[in-house]
Amino acid sequence: MIITDSEKQISDLCEEWRKEGFSIGFVPTMGALHDGHLSLVKAAAEASDKVIVSIFVNPSQFGAEEDLDKYPRTLEKDCTLVESVGACAVFTPLSSSVYPDGFSTTVSVSGISEGLCGAVRPGHFDGVTTVCAVLFGIVKPDIAIFGKKDAQQLAVIKRMVSDLRLPVEIVAAPILREPDGLAMSSRNKYLSVDEREQASLIRIGLTAASNLFQKGERNCSELRKMFRLTVEDASLLNVQYVDTVDPDTMVRVEKVQNSVLLAVAVFAGKTRLIDNILIKSEV
Ligand code: AMP
Repeated sequence: MIITDSEKQISDLCEEWRKEGFSIGFVPTMGALHDGHLSLVKAAAEASDKVIVSIFVNPSQFGAEEDLDKYPRTLEKDCTLVESVGACAVFTPLSSSVYPDGFSTTVSVSGISEGLCGAVRPGHFDGVTTVCAVLFGIVKPDIAIFGKKDAQQLAVIKRMVSDLRLPVEIVAAPILREPDGLAMSSRNKYLSVDEREQASLIRIGLTAASNLFQKGERNCSELRKMFRLTVEDASLLNVQYVDTVDPDTMVRVEKVQNSVLLAVAVFAGKTRLIDNILIKSEV
């Protein structure tokens, strides 16, 4: 497996693969990889001939008060893991090469990126879409895989690719969870034992809301309330937002017709965790 921070080496490699007729699958990440990320790499390996994983802790998607400096970095282990599930190359660009002197472009997707995480992390999605546009331009993948855990990110990227007619297919992968239901996240490493224990209530709250829907409740304020009720007694959890939205547009839904995405952000101590569930009729 090739590991490189060189944009030229990666773009030459991809060019060569394309000439040889290989399809390219791409998995952009910020590293500190866990089984959730690896499931994306496996999906890419099943759907394409050559898989590239990027590991880049993108400064432009972190706010001034956020965890850019302490974000976990485990490059050596990450490379071993992705190689074991079929990656052909790992691209680890430096910030100075992604954003060289004179870099002046911001890709900004309006509307869809403004609520939920966008409302509480101003500029976050501009950072995500800009870096993804740059990475897509370097790798020129046939497909790129994104996790449904970051549901708004997925919707924003799909919108960007559609609006800009970028020649890449965006594939959504399911959320991988710990045995107690907590969504896997690189930030779970920050949790104390007590925070980690209470964090499992996030999934329990999402499921409780979904169960309420299955019993016939269609009023989204009741679904949101059910989530809050489930987590509010936990002393270390603090709900940042609970919202019910259309999964494609992220527009607020108040009454469920066919399906609704219940999306939440919860602080466990100082660690911000996000999760969601697509609520729809069981057939
Ligand atoms: P990150 O390194 O956090 O930027 O995530 C890189 C990619 O992995 C994104 O597409 C995430 O949605 C995806 N991802 C992160 N956690 C999970 C998870 N628990 N299950 C599935 N995909 C995930």
